[in-house]
Amino acid sequence: MSKALQPVRGTHDLLPAEYAKHAQVRSRVETIAQRYGYAQMDTPIFEFSDVFHRTLGDTSDVVSKETYNFNDRGGESLTLRPEFTAGIVRSFISEGLQQYTPLRVLYHGPAFRYERPQKGRQRQFHQIGCELLGIASWHADVEMIALAHDALGALGLGAHVTLEINTLGDSDSRAAYREVLVDYLRAHAHQLSEDSTRRLEKNPLRVLDSKAEEDREIVKNAPRLSEHLNAPSRDFFARVSDGLSALGIACARNESLVRGLDYYNHTVFEFTTQMLGAQGTVLAGGRYDALVKTMGGPDTPGIGFAAGMERLVGLRDALGTQAPEPVTLDVAVIAMSEALENDALKLAHELRAADFRVEMAYSGNVGKRLKRADKLGVRVAIVLGEEEATRGEVVVKHLADGTQQTISKAALLTELGKLV
Ligand code: ATP
Ligand code: MG
Repeated sequence: MSKALQPVRGTHDLLPAEYAKHAQVRSRVETIAQRYGYAQMDTPIFEFSDVFHRTLGDTSDVVSKETYNFNDRGGESLTLRPEFTAGIVRSFISEGLQQYTPLRVLYHGPAFRYERPQKGRQRQFHQIGCELLGIASWHADVEMIALAHDALGALGLGAHVTLEINTLGDSDSRAAYREVLVDYLRAHAHQLSEDSTRRLEKNPLRVLDSKAEEDREIVKNAPRLSEHLNAPSRDFFARVSDGLSALGIACARNESLVRGLDYYNHTVFEFTTQMLGAQGTVLAGGRYDALVKTMGGPDTPGIGFAAGMERLVGLRDALGTQAPEPVTLDVAVIAMSEALENDALKLAHELRAADFRVEMAYSGNVGKRLKRADKLGVRVAIVLGEEEATRGEVVVKHLADGTQQTISKAALLTELGKLV
């Protein structure tokens, strides 16, 4: 097969059965988010490149290696969204959404990252997530994590994920820690991986998150961020932790959790699983108080999370979750002769208007048509024959037991209502 007939590497089709699983996940997460007062919104899948490059930080993996950038015909530099938060914040600013704060929104859709495709890692994948803008206090952190927790629970994943949580502290704490960390890392620079050496000066916190073997030991002995938090940062985190425990939401502190994007502060969290191999993070989020202002908007705190749809679906598959039943049809309409085909079309049309789901088998012998109807879940077939037509009647066949009855066309709708 020619290359152009394959999906592009790292992309996939969502065929009906898979699509139905995505739709089910989406609808359950939406139900939970609505209970918390979140309204759906969407932003364009591409933005001016600056939206992502300035906000995510030029040293983040996402921006430095993973974005799909292109120039359009007008010469504008555009980027396919690698995540939603930057686009939503752009919208917050350009649409003047500040007047609606606290703003609670929910989104879902495709995101694009040029990554090495592997299980749980695609170049076009789908995210579902929430953002809460305008609440600076710890209550928002607890709300966001509780929402994520409830959503995973509604997906039947509660017992199979672990909540890991950390604090990056406020900007003062981070700055103080950064200095200590850079000193330490510089002293070990010759042992660090290439990526980490590059990050050392620009984004040293990310070294803590390194998955490279040679970095692990060095990171293990690195000075800890928790030892450099100032009192307000420690207090903030304690309140978040208390809030979660008041709700009975278990979490584990993971001090090396720093998240891939540059804009986080205070609380960061991830829900992870052991069941998906290396790509075990199903949902991740954090607080981003400086982002709106950095992008040129009014100083507005924010917090949010994003979950990977493919990973949520993959985890449900791994747990043997029953796939959603395909939508079945109610009625099949079969014309026995060419002369009756327009009558059959008209009848099917009327039935659909009356809210029945109708299968029209246009060709094949009656036996074949009935078999196909049966496969589609059809309960009754309406057979239009010449003889019955002259009397204004149709034959109604019950597929379950093969019995049939002749009824007048006039009574059909009422009769069908009782049968399917
Ligand atoms: P990772 O460490 O796996 O690269 P990340 O920190 O880059 O994740 P986020 O930017 O936090 O991921 O995105 C939120 C969620 O989106 C992830 O937890 C994951 O479930 C999902 N996700 C991220 N990148 C991909 C991808 N390339 N393919 C599929 N899902 C992804
Ligand atoms: Mg990534």
